[in-house]
Amino acid sequence: METRILRINDIDKDCGALLEAAKLIQAGELVAFPTETVYGLGANALNSGAVRKIFEAKGRPGDNPLIVHISKLQDVDRLVRELPLIATVLMERFWPGPLTLILKKSSVVPDIVTAGLDTVAIRMPRHPVALKFIEYSGVPIAAPSANRSGHTSPTTAQHVLDDLDGRIPLILDGGKCEVGLESTVLDLTADVPTILRPGGVTYEMLTQLLGEVEIDSGALKPLEGRLAKSPGMKYVHYAPRAQVVVVRGQIDEMIKKINELTQEYMEQGVTVGILATCETKDHYKEGKVLVLGSRTQPAIMASNLFSALRQFDDMGVNIVLAEWIEPKDEGLAIMNRMLRAAAFRVVDAESSTVGGGFRG
Ligand code: AMP
Ligand code: MG
Repeated sequence: METRILRINDIDKDCGALLEAAKLIQAGELVAFPTETVYGLGANALNSGAVRKIFEAKGRPGDNPLIVHISKLQDVDRLVRELPLIATVLMERFWPGPLTLILKKSSVVPDIVTAGLDTVAIRMPRHPVALKFIEYSGVPIAAPSANRSGHTSPTTAQHVLDDLDGRIPLILDGGKCEVGLESTVLDLTADVPTILRPGGVTYEMLTQLLGEVEIDSGALKPLEGRLAKSPGMKYVHYAPRAQVVVVRGQIDEMIKKINELTQEYMEQGVTVGILATCETKDHYKEGKVLVLGSRTQPAIMASNLFSALRQFDDMGVNIVLAEWIEPKDEGLAIMNRMLRAAAFRVVDAESSTVGGGFRG
C-alpha cells in the first residue's frame, strides 16, 4: 500500500486533512499522528479488527497492551469501571499532557487493546493535531508508538515513514515532538500510585501533588525474571542498529573513559559515536559526537535522545558511547530509555577494565 503524508500546519486551515484521517479511522484503518511525546500509530480502540492491524504493522507482540487516547475528560467514563478521586485530581492537573493512567477497564474496551489485562491505560495528549484528530474520529484511539516493534520511537513524521512506509495508509505530519519520550505510565490500581514507566510528568511533579508515589523497580534495572507490571518494559526497546554502551561516573572520569574506549574501538576499525552534553562535548577529539543538550536542562536532553540514536544509525556508527545522566527529573526517563537501548550494558568510568568485545 502507498503511505501518504499530510502536513498539518494549522488545525483550522488543514481541517480537510484531519477529516480525511478521521474517515480512515472510522473505516477501521490505521493513521500515524503526532503527539507531544512521540508519534502514535492509531486505530479505533473499540474495533478489535482495526486494533489488530496495529500489531501487524508494527510486528508488536500481542501481550503488549496499548494506550487509549481521548480528547475530552468525559471520554474516560465509559472506558473504566471506576474512577477513583486520585485519578480525577491527576487528570485535572496533568491532562492534556504526557501522563498515562492505568485504571480498571470497562467491558467496552476490547481484550486485544489491553492484551487481556483487567486494566486499561488512558491518556489525553496535548498536541493540538492529536486532540483534533481524536475529536473528529469520534472514538477513543488506541495507539502505541509508530515504529517497528523494538526500534527507537519516532519523533518526526520522517522517522515514522522510515519504519512503516508501505505498511500504513496515512501519516499526519505535525512537526517534531516537543517532549520526545513516551508518556509517564502511572498505575492507579496498586495500593500506592506506581510509576511503571518514567516520562515527561516526573516523579518529582507527582510526589509534589500526591505525596507518596513509588517507582517500579524495573525503571533502571533489567527485570531478570520478575513479572513485568507494565508488559512493554520486558521487551528490548528503543534500540538503534548501533550497539550502545553507557559510561557511568564523575564527569571527568567519564570523559577520560570515553576517550580511552573511543581510541580502543577505533583501533579495531569500529566507527564510534559519542552521546555527549553541552558541558562535555569539547573534550572529545575523536569519534562522531552528538550533543543531547545541557545537563541543567534534562527536558531538552530528553526531547533529543531518540532522534540522536536514529542519527547515529544514519551516520553509520557501530558503537555509541553514551554519558550517564543523573536520573532526576526528566533524567529518570532518559536513563530508563538509554539503559534499554544499551540492553543494560554499563561501564564504570572508575574501573580499570576497558571496553569488552565489540558485538560486530
Ligand atoms: P507504547 O504505546 O509503545 O508507548 O507502550 C505502551 C506502554 O504502556 C507499554 O509499556 C505497556 O506495557 C504499558 N501499558 C499499556 N496498558 C497497560 C496496562 N493495562 N497495565 C500496565 N501497563 C500498560
Ligand atoms: Mg513503543
